[in-house]
Order: sequence, then structure tokens, then C-alpha cells
Amino acid sequence: MVQKFGGTSVADCARIEHVADLVCKARRAGDDLVVVVSAMAGETDRLLGLGKSICQRPSLREMDVLLSSGEQVSMALLAIALEKRGQAARSFTGAQVCIRTDRDHGKARIEAIEEGKLRAALADHCVPVVAGFQGVNADGDITTLGRGGSDTTAVALAAALKADECRIYTDVDGVYTTDPRMVPEARRLARITFDEMLELSGQGSKVLQVRAVEFAGKYNVPLRVLSTFKQGQGTLITYEDDVMEAPVVSAIAFNRDEAEITLIGVPDQPGAAFQVLGPVSEAGIVVDMIVQNVARDGRLDFTFTLHRNDYSQAMEILQANLKNSGAQRLVGNDRVVKISLVGVGMRSHSGVATRMFQTLAGQGINIRLVATSEIKISVVVDEKHLEAGVRALHAAFGLHQPQPRNQAAGKGGRAG
Ligand code: ADP
Ligand code: ASP
Ligand code: MG
Repeated sequence: MVQKFGGTSVADCARIEHVADLVCKARRAGDDLVVVVSAMAGETDRLLGLGKSICQRPSLREMDVLLSSGEQVSMALLAIALEKRGQAARSFTGAQVCIRTDRDHGKARIEAIEEGKLRAALADHCVPVVAGFQGVNADGDITTLGRGGSDTTAVALAAALKADECRIYTDVDGVYTTDPRMVPEARRLARITFDEMLELSGQGSKVLQVRAVEFAGKYNVPLRVLSTFKQGQGTLITYEDDVMEAPVVSAIAFNRDEAEITLIGVPDQPGAAFQVLGPVSEAGIVVDMIVQNVARDGRLDFTFTLHRNDYSQAMEILQANLKNSGAQRLVGNDRVVKISLVGVGMRSHSGVATRMFQTLAGQGINIRLVATSEIKISVVVDEKHLEAGVRALHAAFGLHQPQPRNQAAGKGGRAG
């Protein structure tokens, strides 16, 4: 079994001792365990702030050295707490257990794991405590896996070791129909499909890092989200066949970190989109939704969304390239958010978009952009409408109510 404990679960020494108790309990139950830890809550942000206080765009290599230190503190403290309890333990950095990644500092991808050291520790009846969120590239440099990346470390180790289950322990007791911090009426889901979880994580639900879900789906890792502080079954991420009856909308994700940029009056000719987006992607900026309207009088408007952190850089690049792209004007808005409905049941039901638009209209919320996939509908709205929009949609799609698949699987729950 692989157990991962997030930042709030290891926020201080008392909580680390509580985690040590949970680990010892699982060991007593006979499980061979590998434990993955995040940095103490707020620590990664603090380190990020330190780096940025010296330089606005610091070297990514050095930032990885800095940020990875947070996990190194918690892994050692947990190993000390385990040894105090008479449980042999050994802490390891990502490099020590050879979590090999590419060279993409700040968002590196895991390429291979050599599980020899972990197996040796397990053979010694020792609990390996591994630093999440970090790896090592072919040059021997420390890399980090992107925010929330300890989830991915845990799933990757579970895949490499062919663990029976990967358990993500956090500060909520499972995956809810939406973030229970925003909607207290949200319900815990006993199960959710990989496809749905992938969309939820991809659209901003930070309960699991999207790459962790990708990895678990690809390598068949049974994945469960549970609370460090409250006993329960949590939420199992599973295959669709295992879900009894899929509701049309299973959950709602939202993302506060959006920004939107429009180029007005782009010439309607082959290569127009490339002219606009080429320089942006060359700068390594990831673009999300792209909307191009029908041309009138030989010109069209071109809108795309991106992460808010990349907004000012993208605006600078586009302004510098305005003449080249042939656009007449550039306008941007970094006060927008995205709300997404997710559900595998959408594949076989119509009218979801209509109900979504009607619900938002009922709240006087203007929709700026829409994008759909087979099991998701996303809208971009002004940030001031986020909370009202999510609450209204959560109620309109019956997510407050108990639904068949939860009744079948057991009890629902409420965030405390
Ligand atoms: P950790 O530090 O343990 O990795 P995170 O803060 O990354 O924890 O993720 C847990 C948080 O995810 C919860 O506190 C909750 O606010 C948020 N969250 C967002 N969407 C959901 C959801 N659908 N279900 C449960 N939690 C969610
Ligand atoms: N400590 C890292 C972060 O805050 C990784 C993680 O918590 O998963 O993003
Ligand atoms: Mg997390």
C-alpha cells in the first residue's frame, strides 16, 4: 500500500505524530507500506515567496532546489516520529529513490522509477518515507512536478511497486460533488470514474493533481481519497463499469486562476490563428479554450484563455506582435473564472447545456465563453459570479440530493 499525506496532514509536529500513529496502525494490520509526504501546509508558498522576493523571474533550476526542501523537512520529521514509536523507518528524497524525470523544471514529468531501494527497505521491515513532488533529471539536478505533485509521486510509486492501493490522505474525507468549502451542501461521492476525475482535476478541483489521475488510469492503480482526521471509506476512483448508475452531472469544478485575451479584427486568412498563438506558445505559455468567431468584412475576433500567472507576459508578447498578426486591437481580462459540469452521463443525455445556461441566466450571470467535451461543459464568467454560479448549478442539477449510486455504495457525507 502507498499512503500519501498532504500539507495540512503534516502541518505541524502534532499532526505528524498523528500521521505516524496512522502509519503504525496500518503496519499492525499487516500492510507493507510506502509513505509519501508533502511539505508542511503553506511551506511551498512561503519558499516561493522567498525566491520571488529576490527576483521576479528566478531561475527555474534554483526554484526547484528551493521548493523541494519543504518535503525534505516533513519526510525526516515523520521518520523520526515513526522511530519514536518503535517502527523502523527511513526517509528518502526523490533523487535517493531514483524518481527520474525530464528536464522541465517546475513541471517535470516522471519517466522512470527504480524501486530497488524501496524494496530493500521493505525487506528490512522498514517504512520508507518518500518526499513527494520531486525527482531528479538526467543531469542529476533536482526537479519538481508542479503544484500538488505529491499526489503524482504517490501514484507513480504505487504503479512501480504494483501496490494494492494508493491512498491519498487529505483534509476532506473524499471527493465531493463540488468543493465543500464553497458549497456546504456538497455530497461526498463513494465512487467516481477515472474519466470524471480527470476532467474535475483538469478543470481546477485541486483535491487530486491531474497527472496523478492520468497515471492511475494508465497504470491501473486503485486510487482512494480519504481524510487524515476522520475515519471512513473516502472516495474510490474507479472504472465506469463499476459505477452502478451514472447521474448526468456528477460534480462541478471551478478554476479561479483564469484570464482571457481577445484579438480584435484579425485578418480572415490561412495562418491567422498560427500568427496569433505561435509567439505565445513559443514562450511556453499553455493556452486553454480557443474561440474564433465567423469573419465579417474579412476580419474576425480571436479569443483564448490561459492561466492568470501567464497573463501579463502573454499580453506583452501579443502587443509586441500586434502588427505581425494583423490584428486591430488587443483586449484582456484577468478577472474571469471557469465553471465546469462533469458527468459521464452527459454522453447519453441531451439538454445539459440548456439547463446550465438557463440556470446561470436566472442568476443574471453573463457567459463569456463556452467549451464542451464528451463528458464536460465549461463556461467562463466574471469572477464576481463564481460563488453564485456554482451554488445555483449545484442545486439545479440535483447534487444536494442523494443519488442512486451513492445509496448503493453506502452513506453520503457533509464537509465539516
Ligand atoms: P493536500 O494538501 O492534502 O494535498 P489539497 O488542498 O491539495 O490537499 O486538496 C484538498 C482540497 O481540495 C480540499 O480542502 C478542498 O477544499 C479542495 N477541493 C476542491 N474540489 C474538491 C472536491 N470536488 N471534493 C473535495 N475537495 C475538493
Ligand atoms: N508541496 C507541494 C505543493 O504545495 C506539493 C504538494 O503538496 O503536493 O504544491
Ligand atoms: Mg494536494
